[in-house]
Amino acid sequence: MNILVINAGSSSLKYQLIDIANETMLLKGICDRIGMKGGSINQKTADGRQFRLEEDMPTHKEAIELVLKALVDKEAGAISSVSEIGAVGHRVLHSGEDFHSSVVIDDEVVRICEKNAELGPLHMPGNIACIKSCREVMPGVPMVAVFDTTFHSTMPPKAFMYGIPYSVYQQYKVRKYGFHGTSHKFVSEEAVKFLGAEHSRIIICHLGNGSSISAVKDGKCIDTSMGFTPLEGLIMGTRSGDIDPAAVEFMRAKLSMTPEDAVQFLNKKCGMLGISELDSDMRVLEKAIEEGNEKAALAVEAAAYRIKKYIGSFAAALGGVDAIVFTGGIGENSSYMRKLVMQDMEYLGVEFDFDENEKRAEGLHMLSKSESYVKVFVLPTNEELSIARETAQLVAADKK
Ligand code: ADP
Repeated sequence: MNILVINAGSSSLKYQLIDIANETMLLKGICDRIGMKGGSINQKTADGRQFRLEEDMPTHKEAIELVLKALVDKEAGAISSVSEIGAVGHRVLHSGEDFHSSVVIDDEVVRICEKNAELGPLHMPGNIACIKSCREVMPGVPMVAVFDTTFHSTMPPKAFMYGIPYSVYQQYKVRKYGFHGTSHKFVSEEAVKFLGAEHSRIIICHLGNGSSISAVKDGKCIDTSMGFTPLEGLIMGTRSGDIDPAAVEFMRAKLSMTPEDAVQFLNKKCGMLGISELDSDMRVLEKAIEEGNEKAALAVEAAAYRIKKYIGSFAAALGGVDAIVFTGGIGENSSYMRKLVMQDMEYLGVEFDFDENEKRAEGLHMLSKSESYVKVFVLPTNEELSIARETAQLVAADKK
């Protein structure tokens, strides 16, 4: 069965067509500038054939129609008819407290997503608009919502509660939710398979433009670094991560920002970009460090130090750790970041192989020495495959 995986933002829509029988990606593409002038679609098949078209897409509906056209294109598509799409998996940012796993989409699911839109005002409107358009353009094709948050829904209340009045939590659902769930789920499942142990305590470090860490015990998330929104936790590319809320109010007044500006500032102008005053991209920062840029070095050191502290606290939460896994663009590719994080970790039972860390490798790459009590490895994430797997499973179960 072919699964169309859709990751829709407010003005862009990324998609992949995956043949789930052998878990291969047939093609991937992106629609840009939805709702604006100068829209375009770019698609590439696994064997390198390209489809490009400049066309305005006033809404997500026109974007989906364009995607279907590209999928069946004679020269650069991968299927000959839309009927070859067995199901659609939608990445949806926020489940609120209403869902604890992925769900087959029906009218009620859409209604609940609309109710929860205020929890993710930047992403949810695009997610919902896309789901509605897809249901209109592809009637009868089963669709599944795969949430960024549900993998973390196994966190116990002591982990997800903030120190705020219980009534405020109850009324407004202000609590830690956690994000990047599809990645943490995929990587922890693959890690559990690899470790082959009945019981496991794993720390997953998903380090990309957005970064988060999760603590996974026997396959279930017990804590994670992102919070009510993806802003909490690590120092990321452009996000501040943990910060004293009183410092935010102080800066807001000094820099004459509105409350909305202040949240935007913390999301877009801070993190490694803010500290380095140069860039959020790890490759640019590494190059600058080589050239002696001290602020770039400080940005990466501060980010690494925050990761190290989270690993320590999650090891405590898990009551010990069997494996630390790196994933995401930085986790998979930046030996520099991994080295900074893994220095002086012997106290935890880690014997990190700093030479192996410098070697490039495809797939799972062991970075700890054979005698290390705690295994450390890189495991490439695949969020689209994770969504496709969930979608196929739910659709099959729904048909029974
Ligand atoms: P997103 O969160 O947008 O999915 P990614 O997981 O793709 O992001 O990660 C992007 C980050 O990975 C960027 O900071 C980028 O510089 C970094 N990255 C990608 N390749 C390398 C590399 N070879 N060396 C160092 N950093 C890398």
